[in-house]
Amino acid sequence: MGAILLTGGLGFVGSHTGVELIKEGYDVIIVDNLSNSDMKTLDNIEKIAGKRPRFYEEDLCQEEGLEKVFLENKIESVIHFAGYKAVGESREKPLLYYKNNVLPALMLLEQMQKHGVKKFVFSSSAAVYGPDNDAPYTEDMPTGNCTNPYGKCKRIVEEICQDLSVAAPDMTFIILRYFNPTGAHESGLLGETFKSLPNSLMSYICKVALGECRYLSIFGNDYPTPDGTGIRDYVHVLDLATGHIKGLEYADKNRGCHIFNLGRGKAYSVLDLIKVFEQVNGIQIPYLFEARRPGDLALAYADCKKAKEVLGWVAEKDIESMCKDSWHWARTKWDIL
Ligand code: UDP
Repeated sequence: MGAILLTGGLGFVGSHTGVELIKEGYDVIIVDNLSNSDMKTLDNIEKIAGKRPRFYEEDLCQEEGLEKVFLENKIESVIHFAGYKAVGESREKPLLYYKNNVLPALMLLEQMQKHGVKKFVFSSSAAVYGPDNDAPYTEDMPTGNCTNPYGKCKRIVEEICQDLSVAAPDMTFIILRYFNPTGAHESGLLGETFKSLPNSLMSYICKVALGECRYLSIFGNDYPTPDGTGIRDYVHVLDLATGHIKGLEYADKNRGCHIFNLGRGKAYSVLDLIKVFEQVNGIQIPYLFEARRPGDLALAYADCKKAKEVLGWVAEKDIESMCKDSWHWARTKWDIL
């Protein structure tokens, strides 16, 4: 069997998936341009998994460098993680997002067709559901009316996959819509890194816990939710990693384009998450209520039935593990990176 190519394999979900794939015996190749990641992550993948993946520092928009990866390796499947992920930034810099989050998928799919690679797994997002749907979200709900360019880019790539699956019926596309990835590897060696501003609630909670910010800004306490703060579906990054393995296994036996939600189907508000973090880690998180963040939804959580029934995947790690592992990583990462 050929290798699995991970684009953005040094990123948050990519690095954890790399570790789990190596542990399952897959041959892993990573392409990453290091724009929001660090070579130390490759060392740490090796430390945990016991094997160093082949690595290419390449930008997916550069055809020549990308083709080299396909020429030098026998690639069986591609898992496409690479992309920018700051939702707020995507509103300020839409062109940057369309260029970096759509073009690389086209470049990759072209190379896959050219070199006969038939299986593509894509990191999509719950952001594609937009404000017109009521949670829990099911995969067949209408999408596209996203509140930000980040979500729109995800939807565009999904549509490219759907179109290509019609034109190339011998290919398989597995679209995984992540809800809110959080947590970290329990070793404390892998977790979410960011070169500029952090962009998830858990990263900000950790920054406050580290004393780097005096308090957490909670964006809105007047939503129509039980405590007035936004509700999300947090899912441990290691569960997401196993979701990709289930996706690859499914791609081995099926053709066409298949969409799955990867979440837990459990709704936690911002205040719920703070409370659990404080309890499991014994740290107070001071907070202040501020105005709603533009484009935020009151609540977003998954219906996880399809992933369970079709892929046999269920997220196993609870919110306590997510808070514990995120904090372990936040405390140690500065010694590592
Ligand atoms: N949030 C917050 N303060 C922060 C960051 C996030 O109150 O500093 C809230 C945000 O409004 C949302 C939830 O936390 O209700 C999750 O936000 P995140 O950016 O992690 O994910 P997304 O909004 O993309 O689902």
